[in-house]
Amino acid sequence: MNGVVMEFLGAEQRELGGAGDRMGNWRAGRDADNILWLVMDCEGSGTNVLSRKVLEELKQHLAKAEADLPCALVIRSAKQGGFAAGADITEFKDVADDPETLLREGHAVLDRLAALPCPTICVVHGACLGGGFEMALACDMRIGVPGASFAFPEVQLGLHPGLGGTFRSLALIDPVEAMTLMLTGKSAHTKKAKALGLLDAVVEERHIAAAVRAAAHGDLGRHERGLKARAFSLATARSYAARQMRSQTEQKAPKAHYPAPHALIDLWEEHGGDPAAMQQAEIASFGRLLQTDTSRNLQRAFFLRQRLRANAKGDDDIRHVHVIGAGAMGAEIATIAAIRGKRVTLSDTSPQALGRAIRLAHEICGAKHLSRLETRDALDRLMPDPEGYGIASADLIIEAGPEQMAIKQKIYDSITPRMKPGAILASNTSSLPVDDLATHAPDAARFAGLHFFNPVSRIDLVEVIRGAATSDATASRLAAFCGAMGKLPVHVADYPGFLVNRALVPYMMEAMVLLDEGVLKEVIDGAALQFGMPMGPVTLADQVGLDIGLHVAESLAEELPAPMAPISQALRDKVAAGKTGKKAGQGFYDWSDGTPRPDPGADGPEDLTDRLILPMLNACAELLRQEVVASEEDIDAAMIFATGWAPFRGGPMHYARTRGIPLIVERLKTLEQAHGPRFAPDPAWEKLG
Ligand code: NAD
Repeated sequence: MNGVVMEFLGAEQRELGGAGDRMGNWRAGRDADNILWLVMDCEGSGTNVLSRKVLEELKQHLAKAEADLPCALVIRSAKQGGFAAGADITEFKDVADDPETLLREGHAVLDRLAALPCPTICVVHGACLGGGFEMALACDMRIGVPGASFAFPEVQLGLHPGLGGTFRSLALIDPVEAMTLMLTGKSAHTKKAKALGLLDAVVEERHIAAAVRAAAHGDLGRHERGLKARAFSLATARSYAARQMRSQTEQKAPKAHYPAPHALIDLWEEHGGDPAAMQQAEIASFGRLLQTDTSRNLQRAFFLRQRLRANAKGDDDIRHVHVIGAGAMGAEIATIAAIRGKRVTLSDTSPQALGRAIRLAHEICGAKHLSRLETRDALDRLMPDPEGYGIASADLIIEAGPEQMAIKQKIYDSITPRMKPGAILASNTSSLPVDDLATHAPDAARFAGLHFFNPVSRIDLVEVIRGAATSDATASRLAAFCGAMGKLPVHVADYPGFLVNRALVPYMMEAMVLLDEGVLKEVIDGAALQFGMPMGPVTLADQVGLDIGLHVAESLAEELPAPMAPISQALRDKVAAGKTGKKAGQGFYDWSDGTPRPDPGADGPEDLTDRLILPMLNACAELLRQEVVASEEDIDAAMIFATGWAPFRGGPMHYARTRGIPLIVERLKTLEQAHGPRFAPDPAWEKLG
C-alpha cells in the first residue's frame, strides 16, 4: 500500500508527479481496498500508444498481480486527452517479415489480463481506439466517463483488429454491431457505447472511485448479451448475415482495393462460433493484411498526415478570428474556429446569411457529438458581427467573400484602416492570384491565401498560399492556426489553381471532353470509381457547380502555360440552360431523383481511365517543376486529404512511381498522339524518373 491511490483518480489528478510505482510507461499502486491501479502514461508523449514495450511492461505488472492477487485490477490512462490511440504503427514496418511473432506476444499479454482471477476493470475517458479498445475488451468490465468513445480504426490502415478485438467484441456485444464497428471504423460515443454494452456504466469523473469499488465487489450491474448473439453462434445465421455484409461492404470498399473488411467477414463467417479458432485466424489474417500493398499505402497515408501536422508545429498566437462572408465557406470556418476555442466574430452584408451561419453552427456541433455544454461554449464564442466591430481586435481576418477580385479588393480597402497592427489578413480564394489580391492588403507581408475546402467541417486539408511578399512568419503563424483548428496545412506557392485545383481540374475537364465524344457519364464516373477515386468527375463537377467549374476551367486555361483540355460544349450548354448541377437539381445528372448511379463495371474506351488519371499526374509533375510545392509527399498528402484521391494507392506521385515513371511517360505520349498536346509529358518527369 503506498497511499497514492487518490492520485490515480480524477482528471485533474492524472498528473501523477512521482507518485506510484513507475515502470516505464505505467504507474502502479494499490489502494486501501487492495485494488491495484495500473495507470498507462506513455513516456515522452501526450497520447498513449500500445507499443511492444507498453505490453511487455503490462505483462510484468500482471505477473506481480498473479503472484499477489489484488481485490481487483483497474486500468486507466494518465493522459488528459484520452485513453489510448491504438497500436504503435511505427512498429509494423520492423516486423513486416514476421508479424505473427509480435501479434502472438501481444495476444499472450491480453489473454493473461483476461484470465486474471480477480475482477478487471477498465476506466475510459476520451478516445479508446484500436489496440487500446482491445485492451479494454480484455477486462471484465468497462466504466466510462462522459465523453468516452470507442472505435476500431484499423480498417483505415487496410487491417482489422489484431489484438483480440475481433473475437472479444463479438463475444461481448451484438455481433452485427461489433462487425459494423470493425468494418466501418466508426466511433461509438458514450451513449451508444453504453447502449451497445461496451460500457457497463457511465459516471462522472468524481464518482469513478465509488464505481470502481462497486465493480470490484460485484455491485455493478453488468451488461448482458441478447438473444441475437446466441443466434449468430449458428453458422447458417452467420452465412446469411455475412452475404449481406459482403454486398454492402463491396459498394463502399471494393475487395480488390480494400481486402481487410472482406477478410474480416470471412473470419466471422467461418469462426464466429468458436472464439479460440477466431483468435488464431485473426492473427494469421492480420499478418497477411499487413503485407498487402493496400495496407502499406494506407499506412503511408497515415504518416503523410503526421507530416502535414508537423507543418503546424509552431506556436498558435491567434486568439480572435474575424471572418468576412458568412456563406458556404465562411460559416463553417467560423464554426470550426469557435469549436476549437477561438473567439470568432463573423460579418456579412446579408443578415440572412448570418442567421443561416448560426443555425449551421448548431448542426455542426451536433454532427461532431459535442455535449450540450461544449455546444453552448462554442456558440458563445461565435458572434455575428454585421458591423464588423471585431475587425479592430482580431489577430487574424479571414476573408471568405464572393470570388471576385473587385469585391475582395474593396473589402480590403475598407478594413485596412481598422485592422490591429500585426494582424494577418488571409483570403479563402480558390482561384484568384494571391499577389493581385495583396496589392490592396494593408501589408503584403502579412497577407496570404488560406484555402479551406468544402465542406470545411469534413475536409482536413488547408492550402497556405504564399504570395511573393508573404513573410515566413505569416506563413508559419497561419500553419500553426490550421493545426489549432485540427486541420492539415500544406505550404504552396501562388500558382493558377494552387496545388489541389491545378491537379484536379484536368481530370474534370477530360471527363467533359469524353462526354462530348459520346461516352456515357455513368461509364466515365464508373471508371474513376473503379480506379479508386471517391467520386466520379462528372458527379464531382455537378457537386461543385457547373458554373463554378466552367469559370475555373476558363481562368486556368488562360493562366497556365500548359495546354488544357478544350472547354466542353456539353458543359457550356448545361450552364447556359441554368442546369448548374446539384444546387439547381439538374446538371449532368438529375439530382431530384436521388444521387447519381455510376456503373463501375461498364466498358468504356480502352484508354478511359488513363485519360482521366494521367492528366492529374502530369499536373503534379508540373507543380514540382514550378516549385509550387516542396515535395512529392506533400502532393500525395494534399490530394489524399483534400480530394480522397485513392488512398490505397498512396497518392498520385506514389502511384506514378509504383507504376513506373518511364511507363507513365510512354503512356502520356501515346495519349498525346491520339488526343492532342494536353497529354504531352511534363519535362519534370525526366528528372523524376
Ligand atoms: P458564398 O457566396 O456562399 O458566400 C459569400 C458571402 O459573402 C455571402 O454570404 C455574401 O452575402 C457575403 N458578402 C458579399 N459581399 C460582402 C461584403 N462586401 N462583405 C461581407 N460579406 C459579403 O461563397 P462561398 O462559396 O462561401 O465562397 C467564399 C470564398 O471561398 C470564395 O472566395 C470562394 O472562391 C472560396 N471557396 C469556395 C469553395 C466552395 O466550394 N464554395 C471552396 C473553397 C473556396
